[in-house]
Amino acid sequence: MSANCWPPQHPGWNPRMSISISNTKGLLNAPGENNCFLNSAVQVLWHLDVFRRSFRMMSGHACMGNSCIFCALKVIFTQFQFSDNAALPSDSLRKALAKTFADQQRFQLGLMDDAAECFEKMLLRIHFHLAHPHSEDACTAQHCIPHRKFGMSITEQIICECGAASEPFSFTQMVHYVSTSTLVSQLQQTKSPCNFGSVLRLASSDGSELKTCPGNCGRQNVHVRRSLTNSPEVVSVGLIWDSDHPSLTHINDVLRAIGTSLSLAQLYHSVPDPHRADACPLQLVGVVCYYGKHYSTFFFHSKTNTWLSFDDANVQELDPYWESVVEKCSQGHYQPLLLLFADPNSVPVSTETAHQNTFILDSSQYTGASLGTHLRCLISKEGREGGGLCTLEVILLGSGSLIH
Ligand SMILES: [Zn+2]
Ligand SMILES: [Zn+2]
Ligand SMILES: [Zn+2]
Repeated sequence: MSANCWPPQHPGWNPRMSISISNTKGLLNAPGENNCFLNSAVQVLWHLDVFRRSFRMMSGHACMGNSCIFCALKVIFTQFQFSDNAALPSDSLRKALAKTFADQQRFQLGLMDDAAECFEKMLLRIHFHLAHPHSEDACTAQHCIPHRKFGMSITEQIICECGAASEPFSFTQMVHYVSTSTLVSQLQQTKSPCNFGSVLRLASSDGSELKTCPGNCGRQNVHVRRSLTNSPEVVSVGLIWDSDHPSLTHINDVLRAIGTSLSLAQLYHSVPDPHRADACPLQLVGVVCYYGKHYSTFFFHSKTNTWLSFDDANVQELDPYWESVVEKCSQGHYQPLLLLFADPNSVPVSTETAHQNTFILDSSQYTGASLGTHLRCLISKEGREGGGLCTLEVILLGSGSLIH
């Protein structure tokens, strides 16, 4: 890891950015609940310093009442901070998630689902609650944590040697997905295996992505050029496996392929500030793993400089070395599924544009009792200009009847 960028060596290292180890808790997963995929996503969000610190300042939002993921996540984060229990329930968030995604039949109660997709969908829901009515594709809200800190704004263009170029195609993604087999084969071919960014770029644009010339020269092996037009401070890499039961050799190859730092200037053909991207690469801070229909998480604790392992209610402290995580994964045949890279100097989003009040989007879905309770909470908040404490009060008052 770079001594210039990684705390605590960095001169600008601010201890307030980190959390006390006492705020590190497990998350319960009773038999039949199959909450481990959600627990992994929640541990990642809580332990990402920039998400936790930004989310803490947010209160006003577009509320969905008893299916509100924002409110349910607030409850868990409040408990992470203040509860004396070593492990917390995540079932109210699970219920909100199940209700929100009922029409897509995703994340339904009792059923196992995918941790990386859950993480991605949660980010998009947080955008929805915070930045409403900004659309997902064109969100410019300065307080939108997902789009300002996690979203990768990408422009794709096919540019041929003959000079012909396709129309640029722009989109935003929350997770950069790559296949583990192309990642491993790319690593075996590359001459500079220490540069994870370029290995990832080459693996993400393998032969299957070669296009024909957008002009008339007839070339059929033209690469797609991907430019990053913003500077995300957290980059999530999703690893796609061919099998649920890969060989240990393949798991070890994938583990070896993972770099502990990621330069966006290497991952994309162009970035807004290549010098900074190269000088201060993002650092690997978290890994969600899969083994035998179960998810668990490793996260680097920024205050104690220690890797922690989270397996539902079970929290273990490892040591400062990524190699120890690799060894644990190898021994347990864990498949790394989602990698989190973060800028250690990231600061929270601005709250200037955030909603001052919470408003319910569609009251017709709620019963009179729960709506009444929520309205009472909202009224008690009015006139106090939405500070953090008010949010806490609203959530705690509302949680009994709104978030079952
Ligand atoms: Zn809400
Ligand atoms: Zn947004
Ligand atoms: Zn051409």
